[in-house]
Amino acid sequence: MTDVLVAGGGPAGHALASACARRGLSVTVVDPDPHRKWPNTYGVWADEVPGLPAKAISPTTLAYGTREHRLDRAYLVVDNAGLREWLAVPEVVPGKVTGVEHGPHGSTVHLADGRRLATAVFVDASGVPRGLRGPRAEQTAYGLVVPASDELVFMDWRDSIGSFRYQLPLGDGSMLVEETSLAQRPGVPIPELARRLHARLAAAGIRPEGRAERVRIVLDVPLPRRGRTVPFGVAAGLVHPATGYSLATSLQLAPQVADALVDAFDAGPATAAAAARKALWPPEARAVHALRRHGLRALCGMSPAQSAQFFDLFFGLPIAAQRAFTSGRTDLAGTAATMANLFRAAPADLRRKLVTARNFRSATGMGAVTPFQGTQVPRR
Ligand SMILES: Cc1cc2nc3c(=O)[nH]c(=O)nc-3n(C[C@H](O)[C@H](O)[C@H](O)COP(=O)(O)OP(=O)(O)OC[C@H]3O[C@@H](n4cnc5c(N)ncnc54)[C@H](O)[C@@H]3O)c2cc1C
Repeated sequence: MTDVLVAGGGPAGHALASACARRGLSVTVVDPDPHRKWPNTYGVWADEVPGLPAKAISPTTLAYGTREHRLDRAYLVVDNAGLREWLAVPEVVPGKVTGVEHGPHGSTVHLADGRRLATAVFVDASGVPRGLRGPRAEQTAYGLVVPASDELVFMDWRDSIGSFRYQLPLGDGSMLVEETSLAQRPGVPIPELARRLHARLAAAGIRPEGRAERVRIVLDVPLPRRGRTVPFGVAAGLVHPATGYSLATSLQLAPQVADALVDAFDAGPATAAAAARKALWPPEARAVHALRRHGLRALCGMSPAQSAQFFDLFFGLPIAAQRAFTSGRTDLAGTAATMANLFRAAPADLRRKLVTARNFRSATGMGAVTPFQGTQVPRR
């Protein structure tokens, strides 16, 4: 029997598996395609995860609402192969998890080919939970690599018809330019964003070359239900509802969750799993999450002009205040202060948009789907 079995060989699964292995637990990662390169181009604020292997780092970041903001906050493009090595997961077994049964002494994990694997603790790091109902709030984007390298532009809302430009130098003389819809329910279809991007590049006389990137991020991933499975990464709802980012949070939390598992391990699998789940979602993180969900609802309802106005205000705040909202997962005071400052500085019509975002009660997203809570067959 392995101590920890992780379903999902994405960055979150690797991060938690690696943290557990470093603490002396035996770990198995199961993924349908263990050697597949992580295809996404990940960007992260450099202050979020010190030492992260990077393909490119921009010491300053540009952002545009209606005007230019030069942010004194470094942003980096993750070196995915370097990150994989950095995390150094001991073993990844090919296989697709289809269900799990929990017992008093551990769990039995079912694989699609009929194999059964025994583990003390089962971790679900398999990405977006299956079975989410209804149209979800989504961030969608379409990106192309162009043969030019310019400054990093985190957001450019000028000339927006509902999506903004994200421009990421890749460190090899090329850059990824993405047409991004920040938050809509349902998301703006990717072919529409592709059409906008092709028109934008044609107007600038730029010919794309190389690969395209398609982004669809569910922003309102529900928080985990009670249970024995330890969710992690996107599967644990670690996605920032107003920005779509989750990678840095998964990397930051992996050591904390692994510590909780190790400390409680001798008390038995159920206690260890409960301790890990508690480390994932402490009360302050839930409270911040509720505020961020309120931010998501406000963003979903903004016109392009209001978005530009809003981000002029946001990027006009001190970096510490911006960081509190983007990265302060347990910083309730900082998140609330940033939101209050934005509200105070907003003109009347934007203020109305910020306060009338409805359904505040559902902000915590409690009580919805988490896979692998018992024997069940996920749809993919
Ligand atoms: C194109 C794109 C760009 C993004 N850019 C950023 C960014 O710049 N910064 C950021 O913070 N976030 C970004 N995100 C969002 C998020 O960080 C990523 O989705 C990230 O990959 C999530 O990591 P994860 O390990 O939780 O899930 P995933 O990366 O989705 O990994 C899940 C893994 O589980 C495996 N799996 C699925 N089902 C099973 C099963 N039944 N059994 C076993 N294994 C299974 C999958 O094959 C996969 O390998 C981006 C997302 C996309 C799509």
